[in-house]
Amino acid sequence: MSPALSVLHDVFGYEHFRGQQAAIVDHVVGGGDALVLMPTGGGKSLCYQVPAIVRQRAGKGVTLVISPLIALMHDQVGALHEAGVAAAFLNSTQDWQQTEEIERQLLAGQLTLLYAAPERVATPRFLGLLDTLHAHGQLSLFAIDEAHCVSQWGHDFRPEYRQLTVLQERWPDVPRIALTATADATTRADIVERLRLQDAAQFVSSFDRPNIRYTIVEKTDARRQLLQFIQREHDGDAGIVYCQSRKRVEELAQALCDAGIDALPYHAGLDAAVRQRNQDRFLREDGLVMCATIAFGMGIDKPDVRFVAHVDMPKNIEGYYQETGRAGRDGAPADAWMAYGLADVVNQARMIDESPAGEDFKQVMRGKLDALLALAEATDCRRARLLAYFGETMVSRPAASGDAEDSKLIAASAGAAGAGEHFHSESDACEGGAEPPPGRPKAASVPLGSVVARCGNCDNCLHPPDTWDATDAARKLLSTVFRVQQASQVAFGAGHIMDIVRGKSTDKVAQYGHQQLSTWGIGSDYSEAQLRGVLRQLIAVGALHVDAQAYNTLRLLDAARPILKGDQPVRLRAASASTTARRTERRR
Ligand code: ADP
Ligand code: ZN
Repeated sequence: MSPALSVLHDVFGYEHFRGQQAAIVDHVVGGGDALVLMPTGGGKSLCYQVPAIVRQRAGKGVTLVISPLIALMHDQVGALHEAGVAAAFLNSTQDWQQTEEIERQLLAGQLTLLYAAPERVATPRFLGLLDTLHAHGQLSLFAIDEAHCVSQWGHDFRPEYRQLTVLQERWPDVPRIALTATADATTRADIVERLRLQDAAQFVSSFDRPNIRYTIVEKTDARRQLLQFIQREHDGDAGIVYCQSRKRVEELAQALCDAGIDALPYHAGLDAAVRQRNQDRFLREDGLVMCATIAFGMGIDKPDVRFVAHVDMPKNIEGYYQETGRAGRDGAPADAWMAYGLADVVNQARMIDESPAGEDFKQVMRGKLDALLALAEATDCRRARLLAYFGETMVSRPAASGDAEDSKLIAASAGAAGAGEHFHSESDACEGGAEPPPGRPKAASVPLGSVVARCGNCDNCLHPPDTWDATDAARKLLSTVFRVQQASQVAFGAGHIMDIVRGKSTDKVAQYGHQQLSTWGIGSDYSEAQLRGVLRQLIAVGALHVDAQAYNTLRLLDAARPILKGDQPVRLRAASASTTARRTERRR
């Protein structure tokens, strides 16, 4: 038996390595550098813990683990102690006596693993310690956990991670393993560059979490929708509800409690003791629902979380994936449920615009937001899109309930996406004369309707959505945006644009004389809900921009041009059965 396998058995009590663990452990035991991308729950810790023990037993000394969170270090070191492994951590919660004692153990060669925060690693005192160890051949391995923290394109940038280049510069002969649970192509490239891992072997595991069912619904009344979702599908289950603001966390936790659901709040504004108590209860007790901001979750290892709900949209797909990934770590069926609406799109766009970051950074963030919006608006398989974002191609799976009607739909919708390209609208309600200003470069956004594989375990695969031909409505809205801008030399927000299209006389319409516009009332047969859905999706595909610096007014972007000209059809998911019944047709 190999030394690695006996460590796995004897120390950790496991039979086999999982997935790529064996290959990674082999590579690192042999002294190679590695970049490991593995989803949450995949078993990243063993990828460096086993090599640490094997190498220590071979006389190579201590492994330094860089970890961003004190709570995480604490849990890991506790678990290692239970397994009889000599491990310790250094962090800001310790007094100088404790620190000195650990430093003594370190220099005496008594530790197999030492955990430390990145800001500690870069201190002269700590670097000196590592120099001493290295001089005696007792610095075995560097493990950099949560490696995406080094990248500002990741969802959790920590500037201290940038200083970790010192490891390679100062001790190039010490092998390094960097690990992360999320990284799209941009972030991955950034990690490689920032941590100087150009020569490292990359181990990329599948990011698929087959037991998680993805559902994204249109937000009408988030609180009511969430209540229904929990009561119908997760009565008595443990779950996490992510909200954007602290205020919303508190309100929702209260609303759930009022409805008889055991719910707790968690956000950074709560007293540390309350936060700790709520987190402990969530981990220990059964069936609690945690209403939280994204401050909650990193390092939380609760296997039986049955659902993760988003009542507000996250910033990007990495965040969405990371947060939903906390559901179903035990492998049993779990739900990832999100409600989102036009206000979410506007909010996120505004937060990017208003951030103090540079224009380059904002462009990347907008591209990432677009990709998430495309996921939310998709009428095809969510999982296929999610995996495509992380560079994986999904192969169709047999549907769980494969009745004939279902498989016909599957075959049909695969063709529908391409066929739409040749569709031309008969309506000529708006001319194509508008000259949109140059828009932002389209980044990661995938055009609606270009993924054909089906997973059989997301809302769109299980219940293929009704779609409708929104080309006419889209052209009417876009040309109205163009015309008001031309006529009044100022831009207007979504509400006013919809009022004009529907021919609704308001004070503002009168004030600007917008009844005179040729597009006045041309969409009076559309409901407001329909038009709002179209606007949201036009923003999602980058045809319209919400200008946060100017009262959320709408401006045309390049992608509006082919739609205005009638060269590009717009086929959208139906807002809801009741509001769109008249115009809804089943996807052919
Ligand atoms: P990650 O850090 O990738 O989220 P962890 O390292 O915390 O994942 O591992 C997730 C869970 O899987 C842990 O409970 C761990 O003990 C377990 N685990 C990891 N590898 C194996 C294995 N080879 N066999 C059995 N259980 C494993
Ligand atoms: Zn699917």
